[in-house]
Amino acid sequence: MSKYYPELGLTREKLLKKVKAQMSKKRYEHVLAVEEQAIKLAKIHGVDEYKAGLAGLLHDYAKELPAEEFKRLIKKYDLDKDLLNWGNNVWHGMVGIYKIQEDLVLKDKEILHAIKVHTVGCKKMSDLDKVVYVADYIEPHRDFPGVYKARRLAKKNLDEAVAYETRGTVRHLIDREIKIYPQTLETYNYYIDYLK
Ligand code: GDP
Ligand code: FE
Ligand code: FE
Repeated sequence: MSKYYPELGLTREKLLKKVKAQMSKKRYEHVLAVEEQAIKLAKIHGVDEYKAGLAGLLHDYAKELPAEEFKRLIKKYDLDKDLLNWGNNVWHGMVGIYKIQEDLVLKDKEILHAIKVHTVGCKKMSDLDKVVYVADYIEPHRDFPGVYKARRLAKKNLDEAVAYETRGTVRHLIDREIKIYPQTLETYNYYIDYLK
């Protein structure tokens, strides 16, 4: 029998179908891997495994939405107008949670927050936020210089793993001359001391 998600009123089979319909095969494999990775990290660090798994499964739900759809959501929910100056990479978490709530009855504030900040982070993240943020970075398909160290830190200490990941992301963005969302810098400033 398929697992049941009581708060969504859906079996796992039906939920997976909905997730799959939103994205490419490759991204679907990524979200399944993030789900598994988030559950593993949750076990190690004493975080709610159910919430970690569900947040992992849904974290990129909105990643392939067209820009017009994000702009509609920013206006409809009266979100910070500055968001209009950004793009899909920043929107799919920060704005994506509104799409998720339109499509699914997901009311859990902690899960929604972890999805919201999974790309840019924030100050004083909850342990659930950190688990999802880090799981996304280290899931087994990821392959970049530094991923081994990120995996080692993730098992040892969530704050150090967040710091290491945020430093890596900021470096990546600077190297490519990509604009940094202010909240990403807030995350960097808050967590970077954990690396020393
Ligand atoms: P993914 O959705 O699984 O690919 O991973 P993420 O949601 O963590 O990141 C998506 C993309 O957003 C990556 O290419 C990041 O480098 C990029 N990103 C992260 N922070 C920022 C930021 O502050 N500004 C911009 N423009 N992109 C960012
Ligand atoms: Fe993402
Ligand atoms: Fe992701």
